[in-house]
Amino acid sequence: MTVMIIAIDGPAASGKGTLARRLAAYFGYHYLDTGLLYRAVARDCLELGHDLNDTRAVTTLACSLDPVRLDDAGLRAPGIGEAASIVAKIPEVRAALLEYQRSFANRLPGAILDGRDIGTVVCPDADAKIFVTASVEERAKRRFREYEAAGESPDMEKMLELIRARDARDAGRGAAPMRRAEDADLLDTTEMDIETAFDAAVGLIKRKIGQ
Ligand code: C5P
Repeated sequence: MTVMIIAIDGPAASGKGTLARRLAAYFGYHYLDTGLLYRAVARDCLELGHDLNDTRAVTTLACSLDPVRLDDAGLRAPGIGEAASIVAKIPEVRAALLEYQRSFANRLPGAILDGRDIGTVVCPDADAKIFVTASVEERAKRRFREYEAAGESPDMEKMLELIRARDARDAGRGAAPMRRAEDADLLDTTEMDIETAFDAAVGLIKRKIGQ
């Protein structure tokens, strides 16, 4: 039996996480939100009071990361996402997290990984690849609603600014920048609700893996 690997990449607030989790349940595959690895390194770094740009200190933390601590709900806090995208620029940090991601991907019967560089760097030979996106305005709106649901009073201009800055950092870095792999299907969810996006993703994957 061969392992089935599905790579889901895309920018912040594109809906790729929700989609990937649901796809994993549907296909019965393991699921890894690789953003959590970078978030955990950033959290450890902040907890210890290190500078997020201190290559040596951050790399040491990445090398000793315990993936068991990935279920910490605090990792999903928006501020941690920003910090994660700073440590994610460091090539040594990316290298330290690569092996864990690759071995996770090789779990039977299959795995779905979501992130920024799954189809390009982590699993370039994935059986199916989807690059999930949505317009900047739509993604800012989704973030806005998330903050509201958490009882906060977000500012729309601020949401737009944060999303634009994160896109620029993730796509502009030298090490494994966020980009659509040449053989990835593009799924633009700007005009889609989650059900429609899910059905479209299932269709794209089945076409690729021949189910
Ligand atoms: O997806 P999420 O917003 O949780 O990711 C947080 C940050 O981690 C991203 O903005 C990105 O800089 C980094 N990341 C990455 N490569 C991945 C997953 C996440 O560089 N595969």
